Amino acid sequence: MTQSLLSADCSQCAALCCMTFEFEVSDDFAISKPANTACRNLDECGDCKVHDTLEDLGFRGCAVFECYGAGQRVTQDMFGGRTWQDDPSLIPLMAERFRQVRRLHELLMLLEAGAVLALPQVDEAQRVSWAERVDMLVSADASDEEIDAVSKEVHGFLRSLQRHVGQR
Ligand code: SF4
Repeated sequence: MTQSLLSADCSQCAALCCMTFEFEVSDDFAISKPANTACRNLDECGDCKVHDTLEDLGFRGCAVFECYGAGQRVTQDMFGGRTWQDDPSLIPLMAERFRQVRRLHELLMLLEAGAVLALPQVDEAQRVSWAERVDMLVSADASDEEIDAVSKEVHGFLRSLQRHVGQR
């Protein structure tokens, strides 16, 4: 998987982050919102009405959020471009898949970051193998339990690579 597929492309997403997550009034959010509901700042086209002034208006949490490309993958690859705005019955499943794929894409991003290390062959092979396995879990509609398990193992592997940091 290339780095570009692990970066958000909001033009190909159905504003999944603005629907899926809950947030509460805090330093990061100016308003509260329950999970699986549209943010009141979304317009009828699915765009954020305050996108250009997020931080000024108290939405730092939105400004720094990164889905690692999960939004477009779920919207386009898994739901064929359908949106929860057009069909609200999709909300629970789209939100669940978005949460799960975001976790897996974050793991892929961390594994991809390891490519800049001059890893010994055995570690590099393992890094590539983990990335393939994590990517397969996206396609396989992995459960939360499967994602928890692979996340633990990948983080353990990544920690083991710390001995190579600074050796380039
Ligand atoms: S403020 Fe804008 S970016 Fe943040 S959740 Fe609402 S619509 Fe999305």
